[in-house]
Amino acid sequence: MSLHQVIDLDRDLPELSTKEVNFHPPTGLSCLIVGAGVGGLTTALECRRKGHRVRVVEKSPAPSTAGDFFSIGRNIIAHFYNHWPDLAAECERINYSGLIAYHKITGERLSGPEPVPIGEPTMTLNDGSERIIPFNRHHRPRFVAALLAQVKDLGIDVAFGTKVTDYFEDSDRQRAGIVLESGERIEADVVIAADGIGTKSNKLVNGGDTRAYSSGISIFRTSFPVELAISDHEVRDRWPLLDGDLPCLEIWGGDNMSFFVQRYSDIMCWLMTHKGDGRGIESWNQTVDMSEVLKITSKIRGFPEVAERLIKTTPKDGIIDWEIMWRDPRENWISPGGRVVQVGDSAHTFLPSSGSGATQAMEDAISLATCLQIGGKSNVPIATKIHNKLRFERVSCVQLSGFMNHQKQSNPVDDADSEDGPSFKISLGNWMVMYDSEKYTYAHYGEVLNHLFSGAPFRAKNIPRGYTYKPWTIKELLDKVERGEKLYFEGDWS
Ligand SMILES: Cc1cc2nc3c(=O)[nH]c(=O)nc-3n(C[C@H](O)[C@H](O)[C@H](O)COP(=O)(O)OP(=O)(O)OC[C@H]3O[C@@H](n4cnc5c(N)ncnc54)[C@H](O)[C@@H]3O)c2cc1C
Repeated sequence: MSLHQVIDLDRDLPELSTKEVNFHPPTGLSCLIVGAGVGGLTTALECRRKGHRVRVVEKSPAPSTAGDFFSIGRNIIAHFYNHWPDLAAECERINYSGLIAYHKITGERLSGPEPVPIGEPTMTLNDGSERIIPFNRHHRPRFVAALLAQVKDLGIDVAFGTKVTDYFEDSDRQRAGIVLESGERIEADVVIAADGIGTKSNKLVNGGDTRAYSSGISIFRTSFPVELAISDHEVRDRWPLLDGDLPCLEIWGGDNMSFFVQRYSDIMCWLMTHKGDGRGIESWNQTVDMSEVLKITSKIRGFPEVAERLIKTTPKDGIIDWEIMWRDPRENWISPGGRVVQVGDSAHTFLPSSGSGATQAMEDAISLATCLQIGGKSNVPIATKIHNKLRFERVSCVQLSGFMNHQKQSNPVDDADSEDGPSFKISLGNWMVMYDSEKYTYAHYGEVLNHLFSGAPFRAKNIPRGYTYKPWTIKELLDKVERGEKLYFEGDWS
């Protein structure tokens, strides 16, 4: 397996059918989606299921195999069981689920291996059955290939190699559109900007790009064939599969750093957060030399030799250095006329420690497709506004939770006598995990409609119970941390 292969759409996609999917009646509404990442492809599937006409454009000439692993919320997998059975079966097949263990940055074990905290072990599906859904950890290229296979089976047009340079809307004609690099303009009833962190839609939606602050933190990340790693016997013996075949995600933390090691049956993956140099490169393709990593590990007191050996097994040009840029929560995701709407990373970004970027993009997709269905072709602007209102506070709370996880991982407190007791474990609360984006949308669309028209109060129910949303900025949080103040948010985040 080379690090970057091209996925051939005719040769490499899994055989997945959509025969068992129940489609809603046609709405006559046309959706143009920009970006064939996780957010864009899920939006394409969900919009099609809800009866909308769909078309996707993507700048990459072919599906990208760059990237490594991400987590997918169990609520999304439950949604697949309910609505996309072949996709659910494929996720079961390609899932890299396992246990989790916590360590000091010196490698000393603090806790685990233990199950990842994901709420109740079973989830109730729409047919009333109870299904055990484990923690889902996926290799991004395979997960994207599964989504693409479903998109392909539905005959949805995905135009690769099509770069969007601008967005526009014309409220009088009730149309929105995109401008391609070639100068061509394409229109639809609604345009969905799923083009990630560098979205070209911000000019129209927010009058300019969202300010991204350098967080001062970068993350080295890589994944490569496991044979390369275990050819070093010390590495092989230190990171075996548990009970012969169970992977374990190790999180090491301390000195404002964290190191993640994920050894799977066929892939080795490691990530390391470190102090950034402010270059602010957010790219899945820009690589750095291994010596850059070793320069840093050589300064960590007690960093074990076996971990450095693992790093040295990484193939040349295999490590990317992603500078984590902070973007404050932005309440507005739609254009003034309501016909261009941002989903996924283009609307909101996450820290890697939140484990939620892909999940939230997919919740957006489900929510938006449902709002557009309820509103219908003649109510696109209000439907997108309602979607935005239903999603914003929840997403912002998930972002906050990612920040808290990051703090815990980089500076674990393992002293049981400390004020908070030991605190180093990631937290994925029930409010986050046990959530059905589609049901929530159907249940609360009318309430938000009433709120927007009559000013009746609306209180989000998809955020931690007892928490009243308050706007926040990254700078405020970082300043508090800097001053040694405790971060506390009322309500039940468990
Ligand atoms: C190649 C790649 C690898 C990744 N690997 C990881 C990983 O290993 N771990 C992890 O946690 N997250 C990874 N991510 C990010 C993760 O997929 C997202 O944070 C999350 O899934 C939300 O997805 P999204 O669809 O909103 O954004 P993205 O996944 O970033 O998708 C955006 C899509 O829009 C396309 N696009 C961008 N600009 C334009 C344009 N002007 N015109 C047309 N198309 C455009 C991009 O090529 C991309 O396909 C990766 C993203 C990419 C693009």
